Amino acid sequence: MPEHETRQLHAAPASPEARTTRRRLRACHECDWVSALPPLSPGERADCPRCGHALAIRHHRPAERSLALAISALIALSLAVSFPFVSFEFGGVGNRIELTQTATTMIGFHEPIVAVLIVLTILVLPAVYLLGVIWLQCGLLSREPLPYSRGIARSLSHMHPWMMADVFIVGALVSLIKVADMASIGLGASFWAFCAFAFLLLLTTQSLDSDWMWFSLSGEPLAPEGTRTGTTAAPQGLAGCPTCGLINRLTPEGKRHCRRCGEHLHERLPHSLQRTWALLAAATVMYVPANIYPIMTTTSLGQSQASTIIGGVVELWHMGSWPVATVIFTASVLVPVGKLFALAWLCLIVPRSDLNGNTRTRLYRMTEFIGRWSMVDVFVVAILVALIRADSLMSITPGPAAVAFGSVVVLTMLAAMTFDPRLIWDTPRARRASHLGNTVS
Ligand SMILES: [Zn+2]
Ligand SMILES: [Zn+2]
Repeated sequence: MPEHETRQLHAAPASPEARTTRRRLRACHECDWVSALPPLSPGERADCPRCGHALAIRHHRPAERSLALAISALIALSLAVSFPFVSFEFGGVGNRIELTQTATTMIGFHEPIVAVLIVLTILVLPAVYLLGVIWLQCGLLSREPLPYSRGIARSLSHMHPWMMADVFIVGALVSLIKVADMASIGLGASFWAFCAFAFLLLLTTQSLDSDWMWFSLSGEPLAPEGTRTGTTAAPQGLAGCPTCGLINRLTPEGKRHCRRCGEHLHERLPHSLQRTWALLAAATVMYVPANIYPIMTTTSLGQSQASTIIGGVVELWHMGSWPVATVIFTASVLVPVGKLFALAWLCLIVPRSDLNGNTRTRLYRMTEFIGRWSMVDVFVVAILVALIRADSLMSITPGPAAVAFGSVVVLTMLAAMTFDPRLIWDTPRARRASHLGNTVS
């Protein structure tokens, strides 16, 4: 081990493995298992031996890479808001919209909540996120972290699930296919810039090497004395930091902040099951108006036709656009309902079961991953309402179901976040196994 460390010190002085003389320990965020990180070379990742959750991923030149991607994404975003997004023409009357009009038109129809949701998820949060990455990486590259770097690094992981540029692209494609039969559609420069932005944003989020980043910001404090690997952290009075990964000792006096990043620490998320149940109940209640009321009303040549979510899917199917019908049905019906059932099942089974934890963790990860894709239908409504404005010839107005459905998506996402996946593994068998670990020397 010492020979290896000496070699690393000369070869790559900035990597965490090069500077620590003791094994770096991590408690898995999803199953609480304590393990030692192996030395990682660029391109390698370390997974939890029990549940397979990624504990650390090492990238080649992490700072340069994220900085370059974040700057490119920000340039693409500024182009996307400066040019026309899409245009349509119907019977000699046409309309051309910019990206921001998808939100401002909703305010005109007294739907401020939907407008705020759109602006936040596709413009504001991604822009703040990218600026944060640039600020952080500039400081790390100059070897002197800029002020507020720790707070910014902590916020980045919280913003991540709420950025939905990629979902918006799918929404834009669905809405354009929906009206392509009735009117001629033109894609503006902003549309392509936004596609590039969504792709670059995705690459930027994936390029962040948080293990390296936290090491460069605040070093690597040693794990508490006597930490044992091959067992869970909670029975030892320890908790892994969800943001920077460091293992901390939880003190009974209530000092429960991470020593390295300052994040709030919990042995298990407080009242996790009760909060998840409450949010699931609220989402179920909101799912009723989301399906009963029309999501949008199409007025064509003086005739108005309101359509609900299901009604829209059936109509699309009859028109022969079954691929779009399938996308809308999956995003608006299968995903939210499946998510409600999956989370409810996990909450029900957690306190009493000794079933396979890996299967249930996989189910939890899936619900967490797919939840945001339900926003497709809300984006479709926003784009169509802004775009289809041809006086009395044809126009589309939003219905009350749009805000109800948007709240279902947000509530189910919050429900998945308040559910603590470590509870899945807190079975009697796991508790017995937790007494069999080894002490680290
Ligand atoms: Zn794990
Ligand atoms: Zn931390």
